Amino acid sequence: MASMQTKIKIAIIGSGPAGIAAAAALLKKNPGLKSDIIIIEKEHHPRHKLCGGGLTPWADEILDQLDLQVDVPSCPLENIEFFLHDKPISFGSQQLMRTIRRDEFDAALVKKIRDRGIEVREGVKVTDISTEADYVTLATTAGEVRAEIVIAADGAKSFVRRKVLRDDISRISRLLEVLIPINENELTPEFTDKKAVLDFRAIRAGLQGYIWDFPSYIGGRPFLNVGIFDSRVNKGTRADLPALLSAHLQRRGFYGNYQLQGWPERWYHPAQQISGPRVILTGDAAGLEPWLGEGISTALSYGPIVADAVIDAIETDDYSFSNYRRRMKKSQLGWYLNRKRNVAQLIYRPGFSKFLPAFGRILSWYMDLRKW
Ligand SMILES: Cc1cc2nc3c(=O)[nH]c(=O)nc-3n(C[C@H](O)[C@H](O)[C@H](O)COP(=O)(O)OP(=O)(O)OC[C@H]3O[C@@H](n4cnc5c(N)ncnc54)[C@H](O)[C@@H]3O)c2cc1C
Repeated sequence: MASMQTKIKIAIIGSGPAGIAAAAALLKKNPGLKSDIIIIEKEHHPRHKLCGGGLTPWADEILDQLDLQVDVPSCPLENIEFFLHDKPISFGSQQLMRTIRRDEFDAALVKKIRDRGIEVREGVKVTDISTEADYVTLATTAGEVRAEIVIAADGAKSFVRRKVLRDDISRISRLLEVLIPINENELTPEFTDKKAVLDFRAIRAGLQGYIWDFPSYIGGRPFLNVGIFDSRVNKGTRADLPALLSAHLQRRGFYGNYQLQGWPERWYHPAQQISGPRVILTGDAAGLEPWLGEGISTALSYGPIVADAVIDAIETDDYSFSNYRRRMKKSQLGWYLNRKRNVAQLIYRPGFSKFLPAFGRILSWYMDLRKW
């Protein structure tokens, strides 16, 4: 294929929730930008994304705001169970959260943004980025793209982040996940009681996180989505994640040879630059919170903040994005991510396990406050 060059005002790298939300928020603020935006995605949708697929009401709120609600199968949950001790703490609410499958969800978001007139190039990987005074050049597997602004929504392993940021003080969390097929006639309590389980007991074994059990349906068939999250927000212990996950599965009576998959999450730090000249990071590439690691709502919430920064840049002809870090820090999202980081640093600190009962009481209070 002959190499071609595209010139565009705004190139978004990545079509996960962060990339789509950035495009939707830009269109909402300025519909005239429709033909000035392209999204470049290395995979073809529906593509696999390792994820528990847990969507909170917060995510739904932002989907509503950005007019991005999509009709995909979802499994509504009405209960959540926290294990800090052997006796769980339970919370119930009509619309607690729901689980979706990311391949279906993300593909539907992409369709929605395409229907709104945005070009999404699938199967095109960005392989290099270089910034000049007046534009950014992206080398891709399908020719060169020259953009005035690049929005990097390329996920937790963001290659743009590595290329553009000089120092990186934030770190990454580690996650492992398995999918367990469940017999329709022997549905587990997660399905019959419509509940999600978050088990923090492995904190005592050095885990800086929790193990989750989420019910989900793949092609209409029940699968338990079980995973382990290690925030690594504090320096020190490195828990043995496969061993802890396997102990959890065996305690539950799952002895199969399940395929273990891993993927990281990067967490947000308010002191960290998350932009460079003409390049702005969003979603997992910029960072999420390391307490529960809920990243879909976060990725969506970055959208309007990124859109404001981009529109300001165009209006003022200042493409430095030098105030994006402060803009994020001062935003409600930045405040929330930072507060959650503080909570994570406290709870996942060595020696905190003896305070788990007191934490249980705080958690009850928090859950009431948050009205899940
Ligand atoms: C095991 C696990 C379980 C999780 N469970 C939950 C959960 O239950 N609930 C929740 O809210 N969050 C969960 N998360 C977090 C959530 O998955 C992420 O926060 C979310 O996907 C972030 O969205 P994003 O758009 O920033 O990145 P992504 O969804 O990762 O999208 C990035 C996109 O960029 C594309 N891309 C990357 N590099 C390039 C390139 N060079 N060129 C072109 N395209 C590129 C990728 O193909 C991808 O489509 C979980 C994460 C993990 C790892």
